[in-house]
Amino acid sequence: MSLDLPFDNSFTHELPADPEPDNFRRAVHGACYSRVQPTPVAAPTLLAWSPEVARLVGLPEDPQAHPELAQILSGNQVLPGMDPYAACYGGHQFGNWADQLGDGRAITLGEVLTPSKQRWELQLKGAGPTPYSRRGDGRAVLRSSVREFLCSEAMHHLGVPTTRALSLVGTGDEVVRDMFYDGNAKPEPGAIVCRVAPSFLRFGNFELPMARGEHELLRQLADYAITTHFPELLSQANDAGQSISASTYAAWFTQVCQRTATMVAEWMRVGFVHGVMNTDNMSVLGLTIDYGPYGWIDNYDPDWTPNTTDAAGRRYRFGNQPRIAMWNLVKFANALHPLVGSVEPFEDGMRAFSDTLGQHTLASFAAKLGLEPFAGDEDPEDPRSGVSLANQSMRVLGSTPTDMTIFYRALADVPVQANASDDELLAPLWAAYYEADPSTITPATRSLTLAWLRQLGERVRGEAIEPAHRRARMHAANPKYVLRNYLAQLAIDKAEAGDPSLIHELLEVMRHPYAEQPTHEQHAAKRPDWAKDRAGCSMLSCSS
Ligand code: AMP
Ligand code: MG
Repeated sequence: MSLDLPFDNSFTHELPADPEPDNFRRAVHGACYSRVQPTPVAAPTLLAWSPEVARLVGLPEDPQAHPELAQILSGNQVLPGMDPYAACYGGHQFGNWADQLGDGRAITLGEVLTPSKQRWELQLKGAGPTPYSRRGDGRAVLRSSVREFLCSEAMHHLGVPTTRALSLVGTGDEVVRDMFYDGNAKPEPGAIVCRVAPSFLRFGNFELPMARGEHELLRQLADYAITTHFPELLSQANDAGQSISASTYAAWFTQVCQRTATMVAEWMRVGFVHGVMNTDNMSVLGLTIDYGPYGWIDNYDPDWTPNTTDAAGRRYRFGNQPRIAMWNLVKFANALHPLVGSVEPFEDGMRAFSDTLGQHTLASFAAKLGLEPFAGDEDPEDPRSGVSLANQSMRVLGSTPTDMTIFYRALADVPVQANASDDELLAPLWAAYYEADPSTITPATRSLTLAWLRQLGERVRGEAIEPAHRRARMHAANPKYVLRNYLAQLAIDKAEAGDPSLIHELLEVMRHPYAEQPTHEQHAAKRPDWAKDRAGCSMLSCSS
């Protein structure tokens, strides 16, 4: 197979470029991107490969026979047809306007347009400095690259909208990082991930021209986004070459709201915490983007944030993600306001966000608990507790340190018969408790849990769902395997010692997260004690 890819670089073709050809840090006005070449690395080696993504973009599923892939996917060799650039965008970081940010270490190589007209942007993360690098070096370390590579693919296979990852290349260069910003900088191995998505456009791409009063640039970019990535929104009048109407921009905003709601509802379903939901990390396609200090919920705690930079305010804590998504959409709405001209259409969009989030969440919970879809879009409150079954599941989970993933997965094994004993009801959940001896859980937790399980059983009996069907549906909503923080760290430790095999093994396991995989049972285990307070497992920083 040849490595000739059919590039169709719509972004650089259709949008205004920064006229400055040289690569130095600067503010870039009146342009959507700057052309920039990747900076070569010393000794690129291919450490991991996603055959599925390779197939998507038209590359060989087996990279063995193509040693030049390491050269290409490190940026050392630019293929004919590629038109490398760094995008210009701004963003709100931790609630504050940060002005110009841009791709400081990501360089898009080009867009592949497949024979079936799917568009895939190939972007190298860590390929060297760009005009947007500010004080950064444009590089990425191995640990954060392993995390981005594995998590992108794990999320995809869980069914969560996400950007993908094609490859992980070790650069052979060292990168100096001060992991906790405490004066302990040290050299680490460098790496580059090639990530893949129809587009990496962010809310921040639109916020920056708006903030600068560059309304024509804003319109050009919005028109490009709609025409290229949301063509179904174009009316026939638009097809006939007229300008895009205010109502089409508004319909687009509503779409972005709905997609963002779906994405966040999915994060909540699987226990994913993004960790740095700044508006420059929010995709207009509703994809999970920019895997940095993210984490997975081990013991259920809606207040948990994996990001040490966020530890004080906990803005990006698990339970706050829907609210922050909404806050970010308001900033996106502000950016689009000049194109729409009035406020009401944005209010419709925000309502669509809440509706989609609510419906998706209820549907998820019905599936997770093994119930018929909640009638009338509602999970009725229990007259005794005044709380719905779904909400009560979170109270039960939070009443003692309990592994969220194992708990929901185990619910399929909890008997629903009226005559089940207390011990029979609780037995499947033992494995989820973080208590050294689960028999020591407090009487309050025990009775709360039992009351809820009996209530759930009663509901299930009332619905008469066929047991095998119920079990299959629950298993399809409650993953067995997620990329637990400690698992990624184990793969990193080994890779840093020169052995990437656990990356490959985890990628393989995470390709089937809802399946029982008896030979990989150890990767479904709850967080071991050693990982509780270890950097990389429960504490991550933006230094990557
Ligand atoms: P993040 O918080 O990772 O989304 O990054 C925020 C901004 O900092 C983006 O514009 C990144 O491109 C930029 N950035 C992060 N790390 C580096 C780095 N090592 N070199 C250059 N720019 C960086
Ligand atoms: Mg970012």
